[in-house]
Amino acid sequence: MQFTRQIPVLGTWDVVVAGGGPSGVCAAVASARRGAKTLLVERYGVLGGNLTVGVVAPLLGHTAPGTMADEVRELLGGARYFDHETAKGKLAAWVSEAGAEIMLQAPVVDAVREEARLTGVVIGGKKGLACLRSKVFIDATADADLAAFAGVPFVQGRSCDGEVQPASLMFVVSGVKEDAITCESEEHHVPTPRGDYLDVCQKASEEGELPVNVTIVRLYHGPNPDERVVNATQLCGVDGTDPLAVGRAEVDLRRQIDKVVAFLHKYAPGCENCRLKITPGTLGVRESRRPQTKVILQRDDLLTGRRFPDAVVEEAEFCIDIHNPAGGGQAEGVAARVKPYSIPYGALLPQGATNLLLTGRAIGGTHDAHASFRVMNIAMALGQAAGIAGSLAVEKRIQPPDLDPQAIRAVLRAQGVKLTAAE
Ligand SMILES: Cc1cc2nc3c(=O)[nH]c(=O)nc-3n(C[C@H](O)[C@H](O)[C@H](O)COP(=O)(O)OP(=O)(O)OC[C@H]3O[C@@H](n4cnc5c(N)ncnc54)[C@H](O)[C@@H]3O)c2cc1C
Repeated sequence: MQFTRQIPVLGTWDVVVAGGGPSGVCAAVASARRGAKTLLVERYGVLGGNLTVGVVAPLLGHTAPGTMADEVRELLGGARYFDHETAKGKLAAWVSEAGAEIMLQAPVVDAVREEARLTGVVIGGKKGLACLRSKVFIDATADADLAAFAGVPFVQGRSCDGEVQPASLMFVVSGVKEDAITCESEEHHVPTPRGDYLDVCQKASEEGELPVNVTIVRLYHGPNPDERVVNATQLCGVDGTDPLAVGRAEVDLRRQIDKVVAFLHKYAPGCENCRLKITPGTLGVRESRRPQTKVILQRDDLLTGRRFPDAVVEEAEFCIDIHNPAGGGQAEGVAARVKPYSIPYGALLPQGATNLLLTGRAIGGTHDAHASFRVMNIAMALGQAAGIAGSLAVEKRIQPPDLDPQAIRAVLRAQGVKLTAAE
């Protein structure tokens, strides 16, 4: 095979962050604020990932106070609920003011390696393929695209059958009454004239009034009182890294949205006259590649609230929220509670690539552990840690695996993060 032209090199940076979702923007800001020449490269035309284009809300999960998750929440208005539209501009300005360069509509499509070191990433764009060079790279693509291109081994899906969590399209409806119901989970019982809302959902599902496998229509507050964010549609068996599968899911899930809105009109008190307001510009992928890392976070680490001495995120907390890969509702009936746990630096270090860091949904964990740490507040705290690690490695002229995690912790502390674990 012969290419028609040479691939040009567009520049050299200290730190290149691939993927501008909640985790990637925090990584870029953290790196740039420490003086590293930083580039954030994103496949879409706006920043924010699921937080904007994905129409995902609210901001879920907790970490130790003082992380960038707190800063972003304040930036977006100070609540769990935020406006997806205004978030786009706020995040772009935030990244730019931190001093990071932003490259948009530039999907990362390959990696250039010299033995275990990455020397560049290849992007596709209006000018064709181009190469970006950097000392350190951070994979914030959620699907671990860059890690996969760099040859990092990965697994996909749960260990019993390889199935991943279902894909969804979340959406926002407006025109709801101010006292319209909310229902955040399978454990949130809400009385309605027809009975417990959860039972109403279940019955509608059994009678075909909801899409296949949709057994709950979760309703969250939106940024405005007459809005609800709806998390209901779901399609099992979608490989989010296969464009044809993503195309098929798009057709199916858009049809599901119409059916769910009809359900709301009929069964959700206060939503009788609701209208579809915002839908995502991309498929909602909960789970895809899970790279092999130095440390892989385990379910038991979360259940026991394990503390790692090299933790870069502490007091992480969110239930093990496994949307059923092979049916409706939760895979385990009820999402398991965790104890506040820590995330070790080793979970950000992929096997076999010395100058690559992972962040957000792409860090190393089992199917179960991933179902907890994937939420946005935890992803943002991870991004901050990855950005600090990248800039520190550049400053010290070493590779990320050679960095003393206590140096990352010291910077986190200096930035106001309340770390507690003994050193
Ligand atoms: C349907 C659904 C509902 C959810 N509900 C909630 C919720 O209510 N609350 C919550 O906190 N979390 C929720 N989550 C989880 C959460 O949204 C994600 O796990 C979180 O956004 C992960 O952050 P991230 O930055 O790692 O990834 P993402 O938000 O996915 O961002 C990744 C970014 O990388 C970019 N990218 C990907 N590949 C490339 C590439 N090759 N080159 C360049 N750029 C690339 C993407 O365009 C995107 O901007 C939900 C997820 C889904 C799918």
